[in-house]
Amino acid sequence: MIEIKRKQGGTLQAIELKESNGVYYFQFPLLEQSDIVTHGFSTKIGGVSKGAYAEMNLGVSRGDDPEAVLENYKRITNVLHMPWERVVLSHQTHTTNIRVVKEEDAGTGLVKQRNYENVDGLITNVPNLPLVTFYADCVPLYFVDPVHQAIGLSHSGWRGTVNRMGQCTIEAMKTEYDSRPEDILACIGPSICQECYEVGEEVAKEFEKAFLPEQRNQVLKEKPDGKYLLDLWKANEIILLEAGIKKEHLAITDICTKCNPNLLYSHRVMGNRRGNLAAFLCLKK
Ligand SMILES: [Zn+2]
Repeated sequence: MIEIKRKQGGTLQAIELKESNGVYYFQFPLLEQSDIVTHGFSTKIGGVSKGAYAEMNLGVSRGDDPEAVLENYKRITNVLHMPWERVVLSHQTHTTNIRVVKEEDAGTGLVKQRNYENVDGLITNVPNLPLVTFYADCVPLYFVDPVHQAIGLSHSGWRGTVNRMGQCTIEAMKTEYDSRPEDILACIGPSICQECYEVGEEVAKEFEKAFLPEQRNQVLKEKPDGKYLLDLWKANEIILLEAGIKKEHLAITDICTKCNPNLLYSHRVMGNRRGNLAAFLCLKK
């Protein structure tokens, strides 16, 4: 039995832990019910990587054995019902750059050399083309537009959140696919919780600038030692609702990467000697 620690405050029965063929992964019922996508968020369990990467490392540039990483991709995509040889990988550098993913990108980053960089968000309307982004405390954002059959997946760490990566992704979907925010289903995935996420004054100041005074206290908690606790889940919720996502179309995780070291990689727990978790999202065929 896998022990799992949940936080208060998730929504909509936000996220479920599942197992298949020994691979553990999370799924959002909200996206499952849409019936137009396959999706998931990986855990450490069910792969073949060793040592600090054990077991299901999906990072291709962390120093892990490439054969092991490839086998991990085959195992997780098999469980999520996606074609492993067509996955399209981001190249995350805490930007708000979003790539419009086309058929010719199939396999990029895993079986084919990447010909782009500094891409923290991926959007597409091509079926059977799995989008993949990477995590170890930062926030995964999932977007599904059932009306225009388009999807988006973005990486929103503190920098991405200050720069409103969620809103940028929605705007890219508007421009490319005529998506309307009121149609889009959005999910905030497993990442670091407020209690675990201590930041210094410099980061806190950025959030004070980026949010209204009345929102500040929802996002930042000042500690007696002058440090702050930052709530990236709440910050992204505010951003997504302001961008026009309906409350009933938004699922928010209650799973923290740092609170669950047996299940998830956390940069704050493990530092750089660790694997990467990944978010997967794919329009069905
Ligand atoms: Zn936590």
